[in-house]
Parts: sequence; C-alpha cells; structure tokens
Amino acid sequence: MKPARREAPSNHPGAARHSSLSKEGNNHAHSPASKGNHRVPSEWIALNKAHYPVTALGPGRRIGLWLQGCALACPGCVSQDTWSFAPDRLMPLPLLLAWCRDVAKDGLDGVTISGGEPFAQPAALLALLQALHDWRAASGLNFDLLGYSGLPWPRLQAEFPAILARLDALIPEPFHAHQPTRLLWRGSANQPLLPLSPLGEARYAPYRHRESERRPFQVVVDAERVWGIGIPGPGDLERLERQSAERGVRLGTVSWRG
Ligand code: SF4
Repeated sequence: MKPARREAPSNHPGAARHSSLSKEGNNHAHSPASKGNHRVPSEWIALNKAHYPVTALGPGRRIGLWLQGCALACPGCVSQDTWSFAPDRLMPLPLLLAWCRDVAKDGLDGVTISGGEPFAQPAALLALLQALHDWRAASGLNFDLLGYSGLPWPRLQAEFPAILARLDALIPEPFHAHQPTRLLWRGSANQPLLPLSPLGEARYAPYRHRESERRPFQVVVDAERVWGIGIPGPGDLERLERQSAERGVRLGTVSWRG
C-alpha cells in the first residue's frame, strides 16, 4: 500500500502552520492523459494533494505530494480516489514548486512522493525530482527525497533508472493486504525500504527493519472532509468511520471503498 493521504492535523508541537494544495476541477480540455498511464507534459503534473507538514511518512517534517493516477488496483487499497486518470487534476509544476518553497520556510527535512502510482507519469515525475534537486543544491537545504511505488523493484530498475538516480530512498512493490506488517512507513511486509543515495543511506538505513506497534497516522477534520496521512492499521479506517458516526459526522464518499 502506498500511504493514505489527506490533510494533516495541527498536533505537531511547534508547527507554525499547515498548508495544503490540491488541483480540482481544472478544465483544461486539451490536458493529455490516458487510461493506465499519464501522458503529462513535463511542465504539468497530475496531483491529488500536497500537504505540509507531514510527519507520518518518513523522518522529520516533510512535504507530502500525492500524485494522481494508478492502474494497479491492489485489493484493499485505501487510496482509491487517486486511481483515476481523468485529466482534471493537472497542475503546473512551477506552481507546485513555488508552494514547496513557501512552506519550506518553516523547516523541511524531506519530501515524500506517493500516490496513486508516481511512476505512471514518468516525465512529470522526473521533472519534479530534477527541480527538487536543483532547489536543494541552490538553497543549501538538506531535505531528502523519498518515493513510493506499487511497481516491482526489478521493473523500476529496468525502466526508470533516471528517476531512481534522483531519489534518496524508495519503498516499492504492490500492497499485499494478506501480508500485514509493523514495519515503519510500509503497508505490507513485502515492501522494502531501499536507500538509493549516500543521503538516503545515512537517513534511512536505521529504519529499514524498524517496527512500530502504533505506526504514525495524522488525522484532521476540516469543514468538508476527514483527512488522514500515513499507513492505517487493519480496521483503523472502519473504526474512524464508526467513531465519526457516533459523533454525528457521517462520512459520505471514502477513499478506501470503490
Ligand atoms: S499501488 Fe496499490 S496501494 Fe498504491 S495507490 Fe495503487 S492500488 Fe493503491
């Protein structure tokens, strides 16, 4: 499973602010996308949501970017609202990067890129990662780049070496609901945490086999939605739905049911 995404709570001590960015209802009729794979020009990116600070998906205070589109349909996926390849989620990459630079003023330890399937739009993902690299080098900031993918590691190595060269760490492989795990930041036991750079090795090696009884999960309620960030445990989302109902909040459309 790639992690559930949604807006974060303000329960992080010292958090100066929380910020989200999403692209909904972009009526660019010419926006190119097709079922199963985004054909997104490199100056655009199909984005479900961006949020800062994310503290449940990687070390420190992070930017979380959830890319839109996934054709893998893992049984039990809790992020089914990220599956669609409809072209209404395209966002100009410069706008997303400007938002990243703005929120990073409050401190940035890393950027986590999830989805959806980020590698379904390889040109946009590569452009995003290159831009983040350039920004990191120019700013002197020391944030790391962590990616998720539901694709098998051998296929990623064969097809996307340029993208992998720009990540510091990766959590690949599809979500297997029948292989639950306590491994930090992983949805199922088949998903390794792979450092891909010296920074990734230094920052992520200690977490490769780290287990946690209660994995971090951020939750917030806004005027319209209940948002969660992280890997929910078995039954957590149903419990959230039940407890919300007991408090008079009925969840309408949820991302963990088709
Ligand atoms: S790779 Fe699997 S778990 Fe991740 S968004 Fe796609 S269907 Fe869901």
